[in-house]
Amino acid sequence: MTITRFAPSPTGYIHVGNLRTALMNYLIARKAGGTFILRIDDTDPVRSEEKYVDGIKQDLEWLGLHWDKVERQSERLDRYADAAEKLRSIDRFYEAFETPTELDLKRKKQLNMGKPPVYDRAALNLSVEERDALRAERGDGVWRFKLDQERINWKDGILGDISIDAASVSDPVLIRGDGQVLYTIASVVDDTDMGVTNVVRGSDHVTNTATQIQIMKALGMTPPSFAHHSLLTGPQGEALSKRLGTLALRDLREQGVQPMALLSMMARLGSSDPMELRSEISELIEGFEVSSFGTAPTKFDVADLFPLTANVLQAKPLADVADQIADLGVPADLAETFWTVTRDNITTLKDLAAWWTLFSEGADPVIDDEDAEFVAQAMAMLPEGPFDDTTWKTWTGAVKEATGRKGKGLFMPLRKALTGQSHGPDMSATMTLLQVVKARA
Ligand code: GLU
Repeated sequence: MTITRFAPSPTGYIHVGNLRTALMNYLIARKAGGTFILRIDDTDPVRSEEKYVDGIKQDLEWLGLHWDKVERQSERLDRYADAAEKLRSIDRFYEAFETPTELDLKRKKQLNMGKPPVYDRAALNLSVEERDALRAERGDGVWRFKLDQERINWKDGILGDISIDAASVSDPVLIRGDGQVLYTIASVVDDTDMGVTNVVRGSDHVTNTATQIQIMKALGMTPPSFAHHSLLTGPQGEALSKRLGTLALRDLREQGVQPMALLSMMARLGSSDPMELRSEISELIEGFEVSSFGTAPTKFDVADLFPLTANVLQAKPLADVADQIADLGVPADLAETFWTVTRDNITTLKDLAAWWTLFSEGADPVIDDEDAEFVAQAMAMLPEGPFDDTTWKTWTGAVKEATGRKGKGLFMPLRKALTGQSHGPDMSATMTLLQVVKARA
């Protein structure tokens, strides 16, 4: 049974980078007929907020990434305490009292001597009395996991064979001085308790994975399979970390990006498989292979989402957008024509409003000087509304007859006079929607 999880911390809204992680885990579970867990990593009571938990769920629902189960770390603190106790009992857990300033100083000294800034384990040499004295003076210390200083190896689903020397990694702090359990141990316990079989996360977690594998082994647990995807960069390869705040899923939604545009892109971006626009999530499952993703940073350009969004909309039937169209005030009997006429001329659904304004209130005409007389003559021949889908043909036929103009010279000035634009939807259909003709005056 394949079980995956997406494990955001509710300390902010999720962005395109998180989405990539979520989607990969989702697709692995769905492809295998397995279970996809939404795990809320909320052990930090200060930074975690309920509004972000709700926001994360809304964003995933908007995309149609349905989870089978929600788990919350804040409800599982007992389990983490048990694991901590076990690590203490097997002598793999020790209390350390250095202040952040002291640790910083140690790091600087090591760097000055050309050594890697790895925690020196000074706390391991404290006698019981020294420890008690420090605790009395400074309060409870942090709890560090004592790494076995050997190589940690695993076969990564994306990065291939990984080997990390544990001696180059500081013993990770698993519990803070104030008792707060940190993600590293919580994640280890959860992944095991929940039977997680495959973990896909960003390559910024590679060192975490090394330590988590050791912690799992120390606790007698079996590590899942790990795969670390590359991180996203901007279109020029620039780090995206600072901009991720503006690439929140809710911002993209607000800008009118369509879920399937985003999902189609993210399911293949950075992989050797071609991106194809799909209309259902289920279609993304076929051909999805985590091993097809590359190790190099993946370029992402938000602008690419808009042409894809336009393509998604062009393929949509009225039923999918009927509510938005009704909200604009388009009468039900015009909705079908309105959608057929406009869907090829919009980038996002937000553009529909301008089209409806144009049809319902009339466009400000654009009339070139040399066409002024011609347009005036044509307008005098335009029948009273309402128009139907024969109006354009009959009218331009009569205008042609009367003026001798034909082709572009006939049609373009009339299109610009009626719609204020030199390109746009088919004019026969447009006429059926046009309620007001300002150029008539
Ligand atoms: N809460 C962690 C994060 O958002 C989860 C990492 C993981 O997938 O284990 O980075």
